[in-house]
Amino acid sequence: MPWLYRSSVLLFLFFFFAPSLTAQAIRLHVDLTDAPRNIYHAQLQIPAHAGEMSLVFPKWIPGNHRPSGPIGVLTGIHIEAAGQPLSWQRDVVEMYEFHVSVPAGVDTLNVSLDALTSQDSAGAGGPAASSNLLDLNWNAVVLYPKGAKSDDVNFITSVRLPGGWKFGTALAVARTIGDDVEFASVSLTTLVDSPLIAGVHYRKVELTKPGETPLHVMDLVADAEPDLAMTSQDLAAYQKLVAETGALFGARHYRQYHFLLTLSDQVGGHGLEHHESNDSVDAERALLDPDVHMLYAGLVSHEFVHSWNGKYRRPAGLATLNYQEPMIGDLLWVYEGLTEYLGNLLAARSGLLTDEQYRESLAGTAVALDHRTGRKWRPLEDTARSVQTLRMMGSQWQNWRRGLDYYPEGELIWLEVESIIRQQSQGQHSLNDFCRRFHGGESGAPKVVTYTFDDVVRTLNEVAPYDWAALLRERVAATSSHAPLGGIERGGWRLVYNDKPNLFTQAEEKLAKFTDFSYSLGFFVGEDGKLGDVILGSPAYQSGLGAGMKLVVVNGRKWSPSGLHAALKAARGSDLPIELLIENAQFFKTYYVAYHDGEKNPHLERVSEQPDILGDILKPLTH
Ligand SMILES: [Zn+2]
Repeated sequence: MPWLYRSSVLLFLFFFFAPSLTAQAIRLHVDLTDAPRNIYHAQLQIPAHAGEMSLVFPKWIPGNHRPSGPIGVLTGIHIEAAGQPLSWQRDVVEMYEFHVSVPAGVDTLNVSLDALTSQDSAGAGGPAASSNLLDLNWNAVVLYPKGAKSDDVNFITSVRLPGGWKFGTALAVARTIGDDVEFASVSLTTLVDSPLIAGVHYRKVELTKPGETPLHVMDLVADAEPDLAMTSQDLAAYQKLVAETGALFGARHYRQYHFLLTLSDQVGGHGLEHHESNDSVDAERALLDPDVHMLYAGLVSHEFVHSWNGKYRRPAGLATLNYQEPMIGDLLWVYEGLTEYLGNLLAARSGLLTDEQYRESLAGTAVALDHRTGRKWRPLEDTARSVQTLRMMGSQWQNWRRGLDYYPEGELIWLEVESIIRQQSQGQHSLNDFCRRFHGGESGAPKVVTYTFDDVVRTLNEVAPYDWAALLRERVAATSSHAPLGGIERGGWRLVYNDKPNLFTQAEEKLAKFTDFSYSLGFFVGEDGKLGDVILGSPAYQSGLGAGMKLVVVNGRKWSPSGLHAALKAARGSDLPIELLIENAQFFKTYYVAYHDGEKNPHLERVSEQPDILGDILKPLTH
């Protein structure tokens, strides 16, 4: 590579001679060459005025629905004007706000800062970069004037990539010279909505057939080159996914769409939705290992659905003016719950999941929620409202606390809605009609159309008259003893338990290295013997066991998954309890679990007297 491109000359030219499209634009350059050691270096030129000025770092991150802007990793802040350093002060209350006194005659602040990306900038755990790849969420490297509307602040942006790395993003590229890339000017809203992934191992897959618009592109980066091998079946399934969304929604609210897919076990596992892209991380072998493939099949389709449900149609409380304004999560059971339902459905309709795999996943979801003992004190809506406190909580006592249940329980509720529409209309209408009315409209560039609970109810009533308001209020605002399984039952299936392993649970056990006895003994147990959640009222709970205790010995022998399975089998024809020696904070004690009903794995079983509505729901809309 010629020396010129590696020097700061290009950066200088970019900052001082770039065409002045928007006089008040903030210029941002991000040097990503230190990504492998998880530091991004940013330089900003921010238009300023003499007097007191406050700059803010994005706090409430779209798609995270919570104040997850990674303020703790914002480092090395240096502000200067006209060659003189300026002192700054963090606000005493608002950690995301910085005050600076701008001297007379100064119209630009030069700000440099680093983002330490050992904490994933898309809102998950784990780092944002590794030796071979990176994920840049621009909210981690920007400051903007306090009070500004994110639509009104323009950014002219460039990056320098590590040598030879290739990239993908929905941002329009103005020009590329070597490893330096300049992007067309965009609003702060579009910038934050358009992450960039890059890596040594990169592959671009066109999903749109020649001549068709808009373009759909999959940009893949991976920890190793062989991870990028996509089968012809997967390519066909992703192409069908695009076609199925067209048939379902009837319109597209983007100019082109990028599936930014990272295949890695090293960086933060997340999926984050955007108008014109989704930024998803699958396990490294997701394209190669059938079990891993099945577990991740619904992720990309979920994030893709968000372009319509979440980005284009958005609950009014989540459509904020900028990233400092708090978000209200009450309607996340629509934003995330309907997306979870449609994402898994589209994975089945496009062939990323078989119908049997879909049903096994649904059975796992249904049984988990039916064992959420916390549903007796905490309505579903409260899990949505509490996203800021629930998101990063672990699994211990999750059944009693509840987790982000608006995702999976939302899936069950929307299946119930769908099966009621089909029953009420004698098969003439379905949730597809709702999606077309609610998420369709005119195709074109991204825009936001907000909605309320009443808008959801009104559109459902246009599709099929029913007391939707009462049903949905009951489902989201009331406490209950059991999960809403009406969609499965109206769909012509029922939830059953037997000793045959559930396909999804089996694959999860392999990948996450745990063994699940949740619906028999009442806990799952890690490879190290640590008990994950212990379900209140279960045989394990009644014997005195609690989450976090460590299983050491089963019936006199060192614990192992196979030994515990064997103990369950032996207890079936016996009156003797299962003896578990437990280590708890350095003390040992034996617990006696009175359980004799054997393995209990969830599945869906066909009810032959009823029509197979679930089977109809899974049928593709395109051929
Ligand atoms: Zn989502």
